[in-house]
Parts: sequence; C-alpha cells; structure tokens
Amino acid sequence: MRTLSHTEMATFKSCHRKWWYMYILRLERESENIDMHIGTLMHQFLAIYYTQGQQAALDFIQAHSYTLDAATLELVNGMVSYYIKYESTTTLKPPAPGYCDQIYAEYEMQSDVFNHLGFRLKGKADLVVRQGDTVTIWEHKFPAKAKTLIYLTTNDQVDLYHLMGSEMFTGCKVNVVLNIVQKIYPKVPKVTKQNKISRAPITTTPEIYRQAVIDNGENPEDYIDVLTTLSNIQPIVRHPVYHLDRKETIIGVRQWINEMSQYVNNMAPRVGSFLCDQCGYSDICQMGKDNYDRVMNYINQSSWQGIKRR
Ligand code: SF4
Repeated sequence: MRTLSHTEMATFKSCHRKWWYMYILRLERESENIDMHIGTLMHQFLAIYYTQGQQAALDFIQAHSYTLDAATLELVNGMVSYYIKYESTTTLKPPAPGYCDQIYAEYEMQSDVFNHLGFRLKGKADLVVRQGDTVTIWEHKFPAKAKTLIYLTTNDQVDLYHLMGSEMFTGCKVNVVLNIVQKIYPKVPKVTKQNKISRAPITTTPEIYRQAVIDNGENPEDYIDVLTTLSNIQPIVRHPVYHLDRKETIIGVRQWINEMSQYVNNMAPRVGSFLCDQCGYSDICQMGKDNYDRVMNYINQSSWQGIKRR
C-alpha cells in the first residue's frame, strides 16, 4: 500500500518525471534549506500558540533561537510579532480552546477510500477546530514568494484534506482556511551608501517606507513605484475555502491516482508531455535517464554531487 500525501500528488501534477525521481527512486538533493527550517519553526510556534497560548509559543521560539543566525532570528522574531499583532485585529481566526468543542494541532488525517487502488491518503493538518457540526481545518503556509489566489484555490492539499476531513468527521461540514504568511514584516528601510532610501520593497509597509523617505529629507513622490508595489503586498492573507467551492472532486483525485499507478513499477514517464521548469534533476533528465539502473549508474559514475537516496 502506497501512502499518498498532497505534496506527492502536487509533484506528480507539476511533472510526472520529477515525481518518479523523488517518490519512486527516492532521490533527493542534499541541501540545508533555511526556508524549510523557518517553516518548521513557525508551524510549531502556531501549533503551540493556538493550543497552549501566546506565552508558551513565544517561549518556544526563544528556546530555539540558538538554531538561527542573527539575520534569520531577526526575520523570525519580526514574523512572530507581526503575526501576533495581526491576530489581535482580524476576526477570521481560530477560537481559543474552551470556545470550541474540539481543537487539535498537528492532527493526523487519513482516508482509506482509495485502498482498492493501492493508495492510502495521509496528511497532517496544522489545526483542526470543531464547533457543532462544522469542522475547520487551518493550514499555515509560509511561502518565500507571494502566491496567487488561483494557486490557493486549486491547491491539492485543500482537496485532499476536504476528502479526509469529511470521512473522519462524519456528518460535519468541513471547510479549510489557508493562513498565508509571507516571509516579510514591517521594518524601517535602510539608507544606502548613495544617501537614498533602499528600494528593496519586501521589508516594510507603505506607511513606514513613506515616513523613512520623509525622515531622510526626500520626496515620497520620487519613490512612487516602490510605494505602489508595497501597497499591493499583503504580508498575511487568510483565505477560507468552503467545501462546496472545490473544483477537484473525489473522481478527479482518483484519475490522478490511476495515472500515477501506471508508473509505480515501470519506466519513468516521458519528458515532454508536461511543463518542465528545469528542476534540480534536470541534468539526469536531459541525459535521458529514464530507468532505475541507468539513473543509478549515472549517479554512481559521474561527478554529480549532492544527491542521495532517502
Ligand atoms: S528537469 Fe524538467 S522534465 Fe526533468 S524532472 Fe525536472 S521538471 Fe521534470
């Protein structure tokens, strides 16, 4: 029985060949990814924040600050303080424990609906809140780049979690809220060596930027391009997706699973039938390495660095 996560399904949809390298051959690039580390910390911070309270969550970040260099720690602390401030002003937020029937963080989701095809759906929901017959699944995202609403409303995770949640909470309406936090927070922009305000737009808000320009003795009109960009950036977006809004159905997921099963024990999918974004496997891909032995021979014999089997 294969366990299917939403990331595996999204990888398959983006490029069948990449999925084959990652999930069938189990090859991955060895790299220390600070973005992943920040994401993990922030996920843990929010799990504690919503189940044990703000102080416990702040203590958690403090206890893990030694794992971050000074600049990353500044970023994480900025995200945390900005998040807490945002939370105090928004009405779309999870209820505190005691104000709902059930609340779980890091909740294991599972569905056996595709077992007969050899796939079991699995995933971990960041936060699950039940109030009466409505269950809301909160998914926290910390993308390095802003995501479009189209991306969010076609997100595979939402579909799979709707499916799993509906099965696990029989008789309940299941909704998902995507809680998107960009890796930015308000920060006073720096004065450059040319005695101008830095034009890096992702470090602040329009108000702070405008004030910094004025404090520097300059005219905000000269920075209208940056100010316009800043006005369009939303550091935190909460996007509720209601069950009935979903386009991908159980039938759609089954089609993807059926297609995936064709390749589980076979040669790699052909390149060219999908969009290639020149991912980290492009060198073996371009060499036409499309079966297990050829890929392994290539990795073992070439000077290709930074790949390992999971
Ligand atoms: S290089 Fe392109 S075709 Fe090959 S695995 Fe990556 S995305 Fe897919």
